Amino acid sequence: MGSRVLLGVVLIATLTTLTIAQGRKGAVATSSAAGQSGATPIAMDADPCFHSELQNGTVKIFRVQVAAHASTSPDIHQHDYIVLSFGNSVFKVKSEFNSRSVQMAAGELQVFKGGWAERLINTSDAPLDLVELEVESGIDPEHPECGLAAAECRDGEFGDGFTSSTLFETHKIKLSRVDLGPGGVLPKHSHIQSHVLVALADMKLSDQETGKDAENLQLKAGEVAWHEGPEEHTLTNSGDKDAPIITVEFKE
Ligand SMILES: [Zn+2]
Repeated sequence: MGSRVLLGVVLIATLTTLTIAQGRKGAVATSSAAGQSGATPIAMDADPCFHSELQNGTVKIFRVQVAAHASTSPDIHQHDYIVLSFGNSVFKVKSEFNSRSVQMAAGELQVFKGGWAERLINTSDAPLDLVELEVESGIDPEHPECGLAAAECRDGEFGDGFTSSTLFETHKIKLSRVDLGPGGVLPKHSHIQSHVLVALADMKLSDQETGKDAENLQLKAGEVAWHEGPEEHTLTNSGDKDAPIITVEFKE
């Protein structure tokens, strides 16, 4: 529960940054192809710090790993994206017009506005380890239906061995956190749209789609599983450790 409260604070702080950045978007978008400290912005695929986990017409997901005191290239982020921190992260995000410091504890997430190229500079003595989800249709964090700068989402559920709550929702996506204890079961529920599941720790899950055989999902921390919608399913933690999960549902 403590980390969930902290998460809300982080998102609000980010949104303040976003609002400032948003006002400059026109200027930045038209000149983002220009050099940044002499370096030419490149596609994320071309950056050796970016390892593709999943790419389809809806989302691009990368594991981003940057050695201590190293940096990525200026990477072109065309669309809004979510950054999930694995381990404690201390880094700078530098665009042509803006530089800001970011600190994230393990399991925290932030929303970044797309539309320009950004370089991540790891300012700590430890490796930087993130998962980035770039949403093709955008996220539009400035207009939350709940969470972020709006009132907290109220659709939390809990039961035997599970908790589930929406962290934020816009008209583009709904982002939730699910925690399953060992043997915990997220009861049968349905998704109208496609969604993706991001494992925050190593885990073994059993995914029982209604009318089909149960599927075993073995995921390492940072790995993802795509679920094409619509789908009705039950998710069970078949391992002996806690299974913390982020799910992102895509509305477009
Ligand atoms: Zn589900």
